[in-house]
Amino acid sequence: MAKGNIGVTSDNIFPVIKKFLYSDHEIFLRELISNAVDATQKLKTLASVGEFKGELGDTKVRVIIDKNKKTLTVQDHGIGMTADEVDRYINQIAFSGAEEFVNKYKDKTEAIIGHFGLGFYSAFMVSDKVEIFSQSYLPDSKAVHWSCSGDPEYTMEDTIKSERGTDIVLHINSEFEQYLEDATIEGLLRKYCKFLPVEIAFGKKKEWKDGKEVDLDEDNVINDTNPAWTRKPAELKEEDYKNFYHELYPMQMEEPLFHIHLNVDYPFHLTGILYFPKIKSNLDVHRNKIQLYCNQVFVTDEVENIVPEYLTLLHGVIDSPDIPLNVSRSYLQSDNNVKKISGHITKKVADKLAEMYKNDKEDFEKKWDDIKLFILFGMLSDEKFYERAIGFALLKNIEGKYATLEEYKSQIKDAQTDKDGNLVVLYTQDSDANYTYIERAKAKGYDVLLMDGELDVHAMSQFEQKNEKLRFVRVDSDIIENLIRKEEAAKDNYSDEQKEGLRKAFEAILPQDKKLNYYVSFEAAATDALPVFLTQNEFMRRMKEMSAHQQGMSFYGQMPDQYNLVLNTSHPQIQSLIAKMTSEEVEEVVDKPAEEGKEPVKETVKKTVYTLAGEEEKLHQLVDIALLASGQLKGEALAKFVNRSVDLLV
Ligand code: ADP
Repeated sequence: MAKGNIGVTSDNIFPVIKKFLYSDHEIFLRELISNAVDATQKLKTLASVGEFKGELGDTKVRVIIDKNKKTLTVQDHGIGMTADEVDRYINQIAFSGAEEFVNKYKDKTEAIIGHFGLGFYSAFMVSDKVEIFSQSYLPDSKAVHWSCSGDPEYTMEDTIKSERGTDIVLHINSEFEQYLEDATIEGLLRKYCKFLPVEIAFGKKKEWKDGKEVDLDEDNVINDTNPAWTRKPAELKEEDYKNFYHELYPMQMEEPLFHIHLNVDYPFHLTGILYFPKIKSNLDVHRNKIQLYCNQVFVTDEVENIVPEYLTLLHGVIDSPDIPLNVSRSYLQSDNNVKKISGHITKKVADKLAEMYKNDKEDFEKKWDDIKLFILFGMLSDEKFYERAIGFALLKNIEGKYATLEEYKSQIKDAQTDKDGNLVVLYTQDSDANYTYIERAKAKGYDVLLMDGELDVHAMSQFEQKNEKLRFVRVDSDIIENLIRKEEAAKDNYSDEQKEGLRKAFEAILPQDKKLNYYVSFEAAATDALPVFLTQNEFMRRMKEMSAHQQGMSFYGQMPDQYNLVLNTSHPQIQSLIAKMTSEEVEEVVDKPAEEGKEPVKETVKKTVYTLAGEEEKLHQLVDIALLASGQLKGEALAKFVNRSVDLLV
């Protein structure tokens, strides 16, 4: 029997392994099975080129639990290892990477997070002792038995093994007895091994017979060795893509909208299938995630650092042997391959959408509402994607007609350009609430967009930034004559004093609310417009809405909602109120601006003050009509309005 020390200088390697990988100890199974799969595939390759002439036989990788002996065995019938190879691959070099790593971080073990692939040695995370029994495929080679109890000493001796391949036997530590439970292991196998290229068997298929579960003859094979993403798109039908989607997400009932099959050879290797789900709101996001594989081995479904954030809204798989998986997440972001992969996926996604739009606009329009959130998110977060997507991102008007921004601009150019050359896009977020305003816009021959999506406010701001002289305004943000100003504003002949008097009369009856401010203002609007109506400043409202989604903008979020109560001086009702006001001359003492070097002096000025008396009921009625037309009259105020209206009828 040979004895020796594993080829590392650092004695504390085993405690370090346990500590590093503690949070992720389940990956030992993935590592051992990957090795078994590799060994099996190597043998198949040798057979295919004629270097291995024996019988391949059953090449399944088996996972076997022995509850009595407290062992878990990963068994393969691959190339196996000779004593020499065990010495070279396990004893000597397995730690070369780990040693470097440990030296670098020896003072700050806590700082080390996540995924550090130690391959075979990760078995020691959960085992008191690990044994290797291996018979190489090479003719005349002797089987070898290696054993190590989690310290740098190992033993190695010749043994007899009837079958070709390797058994890795883990004597599971008492703290980790969950790994001797069928359910735990089956769960892990389904998580990490679902799409491995070599069959993985765990026990036998079971059947219910006479009230109890009995084993059948057939192996319980965990995986699909030939998942859709590894096949050629030409071999696959629509049906196959859908079936694979449900294989990936067994709990997902809804069908995906469409998919993209990724297949890259240069400058890196990447395959995969991305699915577009229906994304209605931020709430359904991230229930099913993109899964990342490395040569069909599941690695993670936390792909945030590998694909841009908006792409994480998609579903599906990405498989790349070129993503460095055994390093920490923060390192991933700066990795050049990762950057290229991310850029490439972005381009593919944009290509696919552009092609779909070009080939069948009607079909694309049908899908638009379901993919809009994703596309706007992409445009807002990635300049390159914006440039591509502007060609197929759609706007929808209140009649349900779609157009790209460029198409829409040319459609409204003649009617909706104001006297200063600004192209004004009118929109609503709720066509019922804005009904009165929309009617006035339509009467002028203007079009109104429906912008009721979660990211629409942000998208509009982006369109404005990218397009000079383009403005988006909500239809109720001002009187229509002001929104798209064609000529100088109409003026009335009332004096400032008269308006001041009327403002005071209205202010006295306005609803008092801490979260709502109303400012009384005057406009000579159209004679057939309402006598009193509400408008809301576009800028303030939009800032408030955007602050709801964004950090660092809470300043706007805390501001009260502000409305203008506009008195229409062209309307006979307002004109008759002004006519009913009485005036008196009053004297007022004011500060006269001081001359250089002198004390300020008081001065008495004469002023006309207008007041309105006995019209409270009418003012209430007018204000309530304005609130009602904007959907703001509710509860008690609404009941009072109704009663007052009935009284006025008799
Ligand atoms: P890695 O797999 O990253 O190379 P490991 O520590 O997991 O690192 O394995 C080291 C080497 O040991 C492998 O490259 C392979 O040559 C050999 N090996 C491990 N497991 C097996 C196995 N089941 N059959 C044959 N060779 C194996």
